[in-house]
Amino acid sequence: MNPSSSSAATAAVIGSGFGGLALAMRLQAAGVQTTVFESRDKPGGRAYVYRDQGFTFDAGPTVITDPSALEELFALSGRSLADYVELLPVAPFYRLCWEDGTTLDYANDQQALDAQLRAFSPDDVEGYQRFLEYSRAVFEEGYRKLGTVPFLNFRDMVAAGPALVKLQAWRSVYSKVSQFIKDEKLRQVFSFHSLLVGGNPFETSSIYALIHALEREWGVWFPRGGTSALVQGMVRCFEDMGGTLRLSTPVERIEVQSGRASAVVAGGQSHGFDQVASNADVVHTYERLLGHTPRGQAEARRLKGKRFSMSLFVVHFGLSRPQPQLRHHTVCFGARYRELIRDIFHGSEIPEDFSLYLHAPCATDPSLAPAGCSSHYVLAPVPHLGNAPVDWSVEGPRLRDRIFDYLEAHYMPGLRESLVTSRMFTPADFRDELNAHHGSAFSLEPVLTQSAWFRPHNRDAEIPNLYIVGAGTHPGAGVPGVVGSAKATAGLMLEEAGR
Ligand SMILES: Cc1cc2nc3c(=O)[nH]c(=O)nc-3n(C[C@H](O)[C@H](O)[C@H](O)COP(=O)(O)OP(=O)(O)OC[C@H]3O[C@@H](n4cnc5c(N)ncnc54)[C@H](O)[C@@H]3O)c2cc1C
Repeated sequence: MNPSSSSAATAAVIGSGFGGLALAMRLQAAGVQTTVFESRDKPGGRAYVYRDQGFTFDAGPTVITDPSALEELFALSGRSLADYVELLPVAPFYRLCWEDGTTLDYANDQQALDAQLRAFSPDDVEGYQRFLEYSRAVFEEGYRKLGTVPFLNFRDMVAAGPALVKLQAWRSVYSKVSQFIKDEKLRQVFSFHSLLVGGNPFETSSIYALIHALEREWGVWFPRGGTSALVQGMVRCFEDMGGTLRLSTPVERIEVQSGRASAVVAGGQSHGFDQVASNADVVHTYERLLGHTPRGQAEARRLKGKRFSMSLFVVHFGLSRPQPQLRHHTVCFGARYRELIRDIFHGSEIPEDFSLYLHAPCATDPSLAPAGCSSHYVLAPVPHLGNAPVDWSVEGPRLRDRIFDYLEAHYMPGLRESLVTSRMFTPADFRDELNAHHGSAFSLEPVLTQSAWFRPHNRDAEIPNLYIVGAGTHPGAGVPGVVGSAKATAGLMLEEAGR
């Protein structure tokens, strides 16, 4: 930007996902007058919230890790996260279940964990310790050192090279886990995490094994009132600092003049800013918002040739009964693991079987449902629309019914009898409501060749005051990832603004 105007710096952030809000908080705290434009009626993006008949349904993220990254955002303006939202510890972190009835409660209590590992496979107790050491080493390198660094130049990638080679980052998460752990079920336990950020454990780089160490380092948390309470807390803090959030205001275009982003057009009106950052889907950003420019057209074409993460099929439902047999987070492994994941990432139809994540937040915070009731969501990873262009208005209800049958048989007897309300969110909704390319739930797939420097950069290569934040840029999806991307992007924007 023009240094002479630095005292009146203004920025637009397009999208109010966790990445957009974290960036807006950082800019506003540094004195940049920031406006967030959000197309939906509520903030949060994938962390949207539905309220229905006294039930609260968080739409997306429920496993909140690395609270220190969130606390840092509030501390920037001398405030405290605790004044805006209370984070409750979740124990166990997850319950993992298989169809033969075996379960494992994964928690931060080493003795209890060891006892359970021993019951599965005595040899793997020692193997797990070596895996944990590996995971901690990747965590130091990949998260603490590189998680908030913008990879703008290839030399940054070269600099990171020796560490990545030492950690064998070219191997997949599953192959690395298998080096330490022999039991197939335990291999699933310690490799499924990459799915939480849209990565195929059999293809994504073993650097994503760091998620395990990240959870062990800071624990698993849940905001009182649900994830939406955290979103609201971030919005309130941003507004308390003087920032502006404009809901139900989709941006239609980013204006470019003399090679610089000069304004955003929303509701037919042009709003001028010194800097523009997009938290919207990267293909949408280049194809729709910048489609009138040669840069937008070329970058959209390039990005469309990339691999995108799978989508998700989500059913939110409220029951008239509590479910005390459930823990807060349950992963329900189906009969197939490797083959099912292959079908999800590479198949052209909805697989017959599924593995599920089941959310039971009332286990931590009963206020999310009316007294004596329980609120839930269940999700199944499914192929994105580019691979499986199915008609979800037909297939959605069918899949929901199959999943309800399965839950009734294995985890929630009598589910349908106590069903008060339910709603679905399908890959078509990811596409139509969130502008997600192919309806992907996590943007570009986090394979090594699409990570760090190879991912869309936090600053556009040709339009110097246009920035990207969120799952489509470095480091990638997941709440800690997009909050880290906001730190990387804010660093560049504040440097440009001379702050
Ligand atoms: C069902 C589900 C469960 C998940 N669970 C977890 C979890 O437990 N833990 C975890 O860490 N991660 C989880 N994730 C991943 C995590 O939620 C996402 O990676 C992260 O929230 C994405 O944030 P983002 O900043 O990229 O923005 P997004 O959430 O993608 O938000 C982008 C925003 O931009 C807006 N937008 C788009 N186009 C425009 C436009 N033209 N004008 C204005 N606004 C626009 C959209 O409406 C949206 O609000 C989950 C994801 C899903 C879908």
